[in-house]
Amino acid sequence: MNYKEKYYNHFNIHLVDFCYCEYSWIVKRVAVEAQNIHHIAHGKGKKNNNIENLMALSYENHQKAHNEKLNRYDLKEIHLKFLKNHPY
Ligand SMILES: [Zn+2]
Repeated sequence: MNYKEKYYNHFNIHLVDFCYCEYSWIVKRVAVEAQNIHHIAHGKGKKNNNIENLMALSYENHQKAHNEKLNRYDLKEIHLKFLKNHPY
């Protein structure tokens, strides 16, 4: 199972369903479609594909995550909130 399937499976959603950008939902309380499943911590070698490390983000927020405009510690905190209190 690849990391995207793992993410979708966790929330029991399908590729065709609306996938929430976690940042937009938790921080802004708006429903924005996610285009990417992001690895919050990117270690060297094997990627950590645990659900705690996988976060759905919109295209725009995904760019910010990779440009360090959104830092990984904030993202992790937002992701943990989303896991506990998600809209699915
Ligand atoms: Zn990413």
